[in-house]
Amino acid sequence: MNDLTVVSKSRADIPADPFLARHLIGGDWRESHDGQTFERLSPSHGTVVTRASMGGTNDVDAAIDAARKAFDAGSWSRISGQKRATFLLKIADLIDRDRQRIALMETLESGKPISQAEAEIEGASDLWRYAASLARTVHGDSHNSLGSEFLGLVLKEPVGVVSIITPWNFPFLIVSQKLPFALAAGCTAVIKPSELTPATTTILGELCIEAGIPSGVVNIVLGYGDPVGTRMTTDSRVNMVTFTGSTAVGKSIVSAASGTLKKVSLELGGKNPQVIFPDADVESAVDAVVFGVYFNAGECCNSGSRIIVHEDIAEAFIAQTVALSRQVPFGDPLDPSTQVGAIITPEHQNKIDTYVRDAANAGADIRLGGGGLTVPGLDGQFYQPTVIANVESSQPIAREEVFGPVLSVLTFRTIDEAIALVNDAEYGLSAGVWSENVHTCLEFARRAEAGTVWTNTWMDGFAELPFGGVKESGQGRELGKYGLEEFLEAKTVTMRIGKSRK
Ligand code: NAD
Repeated sequence: MNDLTVVSKSRADIPADPFLARHLIGGDWRESHDGQTFERLSPSHGTVVTRASMGGTNDVDAAIDAARKAFDAGSWSRISGQKRATFLLKIADLIDRDRQRIALMETLESGKPISQAEAEIEGASDLWRYAASLARTVHGDSHNSLGSEFLGLVLKEPVGVVSIITPWNFPFLIVSQKLPFALAAGCTAVIKPSELTPATTTILGELCIEAGIPSGVVNIVLGYGDPVGTRMTTDSRVNMVTFTGSTAVGKSIVSAASGTLKKVSLELGGKNPQVIFPDADVESAVDAVVFGVYFNAGECCNSGSRIIVHEDIAEAFIAQTVALSRQVPFGDPLDPSTQVGAIITPEHQNKIDTYVRDAANAGADIRLGGGGLTVPGLDGQFYQPTVIANVESSQPIAREEVFGPVLSVLTFRTIDEAIALVNDAEYGLSAGVWSENVHTCLEFARRAEAGTVWTNTWMDGFAELPFGGVKESGQGRELGKYGLEEFLEAKTVTMRIGKSRK
C-alpha cells in the first residue's frame, strides 16, 4: 500500500435495468438482422450496464445503403449551410439538456470519473456549436487570372458517405470531433462506436432524431471491429473513413480502404513527452504532469506519460510528483471527487501490469504504485498511480502506449539531447516543454516531431485549433477549419468565355 487517496464510497446511481442500445438505420431503431446481442459490464462495479444489438454484415449493408440514398437524394448535402447549422445547434442544446444522463452512461461503461465525463460532454456540445458556425463558411475560390477567355471556379463539395469508427476512451467527445464536422460539410454518416462503449453514441443518435435530422443522414451500427468495422472500410458506397483508435488497427484500415481508394483520416496512438528544463516553474509542471498522466486513468492518446527532466532537478521533480500523486483521489468513478477511476477491462489491466513488471525487471525504479488495487465496496479493476524512474528510451515502457496511470521518467543534460529523446519515437501526437525562457520554448516547438506542442501547459484543447498526429500517430486533422476541410473535396470548374476557337 502506497498511502494513496482511495475513494470507496459506492453510490446508488446505477440504473436498475441495463441501457438498451440498438442500431439506427435509415431513421429507425433496429435489432440486429440475426437477433444477436452483447453486454457491457461496468469496469468499476461489475454489473451489466448495457445490452446492445450486435451488428453483422446485413446491418452494415443496410446502414450504408441508407446513408448513400440520403446523400444522393440531397436532403442534407444540398440544403444550405445555414439550415444545416440550425440542426447542429439544436443537437448542441439537446446534449446540454441531457448532459447528466450522457455523462452517467459514459462513466458506467468506461469507468472514468463522473466529473471528467461531465467535462467531456460539455466539451462535446461546444464542438457541435463550433461546427455549426463552420457550416456557413464552406466556400471555394474563383480564378480570374487565367486570361480573358477563361474563368476558373473551385467548388468545395461534401466527400459523400463517411464511415466513423471510434474508440472507448472518450466515446462521446470523439464522435463529436467527427460527426458535426462531417454534417457541416454536407456528408452523411455510418458510425460504429467501440463495442466496449456503445451507449452514449446511441444517445447521440436519439438526439439527432429528436432534432429532426433527415432519415438516413446519421446511422449507427453497434458491434465489433470484425465484421462491422471491416465492412465499413471496404464497401464501395463509402467515400471516406475517419478512424480514431490504435495504430495497429489504423494500419489495417489503410490497407482495407485501399481496395476502393477511399479517403482515410486517422487519429492514432501517442507516447507523449514533456521536457522539464531547469528554469521551469516546477510546481506548475508537477501539477500538469500529474493531471496529464492520471487523467482518464492514463487511457488517453494524449497521456503525458514520458517525462524528460533535466538531471539537475530530476530527484526533486520526482519527489514532488510522487507526493502529489499520493493525493489524487482514486477509486469509485461515481464519486464526484474521484480523479482516477477504473481500467476498461481486466485484460487491459494485465497489459498495464506487464509493462510495469517488465520495466522493473529491466532495472527501472518504481517510486510509487506498480500494481492493481482492490477498492473496498467495488467490483472492478483499478491500477495504482505509478511513477517509474531510471527509464531508458529503448525500453517498451518509454516507447509504447501503456494506456494506464503510469509515468516514466527519463533525464537529459542539453537541449539537443532532450530533443533527440523526444523524437526518438514511432509516435508523434503531442509534446510539451516547461521553461521560463521563450527562446527555449520556441526552439523546442519548432524541432519537436508532433502534431501539437504545449508550452508551459498540457492538454488544453480548443475547438478552433486543429488536432492530430505525425509519424505513426495518424494522418489528417480534426477540429478548427482543418476539421471541416477533411470532409470536403475540391472540384474544378473551368469556364470558357465567348466562342471556342479550337
Ligand atoms: P482500437 O483500435 O482497438 O479500436 C478502435 C475502434 O476500431 C473500435 O470501434 C473497434 O471496434 C474498431 N475496430 C477494431 N478492429 C477493426 C478493424 N479491423 N476494422 C475496422 N474497425 C476496427 O482502439 P481502442 O482500444 O478502442 O482505443 C484506444 C486507442 O485509441 C489508443 O491507441 C489511443 O491512443 C487511440 N486514441 C487516439 C486518439 C487520437 O485522437 N489520436 C484519441 C483517442 C484514442
